[in-house]
Amino acid sequence: MRKIWKKLGFVTLFLLAVVSLSACESYGNSTAEPEKDQVYSQVKASKKIIWGVRNDTRLFGIMDIKENKLVGFDIDLAKAITKQMLGKDAKAELFQTTSKTKIPVLKNGNVDALMATVTITPERKKQVTFSEPYFNAGQSLLVSKKSSIKSVKDLNKAGTVVVAVKGTTAVENIHKFAPKARVLEYDDYGQCFTALKAGQGQAMSTDNGILAGIAAENPGYKVVGGTFTHEPYGIAVDKGQTKMASEINKAFNELKKNGTYNRLMHKWFDGIPGFSIKEAER
Ligand code: GLU
Repeated sequence: MRKIWKKLGFVTLFLLAVVSLSACESYGNSTAEPEKDQVYSQVKASKKIIWGVRNDTRLFGIMDIKENKLVGFDIDLAKAITKQMLGKDAKAELFQTTSKTKIPVLKNGNVDALMATVTITPERKKQVTFSEPYFNAGQSLLVSKKSSIKSVKDLNKAGTVVVAVKGTTAVENIHKFAPKARVLEYDDYGQCFTALKAGQGQAMSTDNGILAGIAAENPGYKVVGGTFTHEPYGIAVDKGQTKMASEINKAFNELKKNGTYNRLMHKWFDGIPGFSIKEAER
């Protein structure tokens, strides 16, 4: 009798081990990176690219409430690249991301590519594959016109508070360039600028083009201090999707040759105070 119970015990243990092993395996599969060049094969077959874009960043990607659609330089460039790559009848589907979620939505397969003011950094290169840079930005400061702050050096004092957005390169850069300042982080640019207006910080910091977009609509604020970092924007695809990245580069270079890129730069950045198209263009 005892022997039977022992046997049954072994069988149960064995079955449990099999079940947990297979659970591990399916978990592993669901988080694995897509197969090499799978993304390009998919977009080619469906004639559709799902782009991760911004919805809180004027000039690059913002929701136009009146028109009820996303507009901006990144949005136009994503649409143009889609058609250049896959033909006139191809479709660009837009998926809204934030500074914090942009890399995760790419990694978990919600989007095929990101055109979302993403700075190419060595750290991010470990997780994703970037196109050639398509826009040269640099970090800058936004302050009230009454402020005496002129550059990032003026922030390096105990008691100074800088407002920034979670998940941006701006947060680390302020710690590096003004280590004595405190950084308050918000979920998006709307909340961050509201905090600046409410006096929760003396300056707001992120890329110059994004700040120029805010200043252009808010006459009480100005962009100061030039650029103190180099923030080249790249189109990101999942790690290993090299065919997708090279097809994006090919399409981007065609758009540069045929004048589309330059036309879009002028459409969005002409007449923006303190912003130089020449510096941003590549
Ligand atoms: N270019 C910066 C970055 O990639 C800021 C853009 C953003 O708000 O996500 O972190």
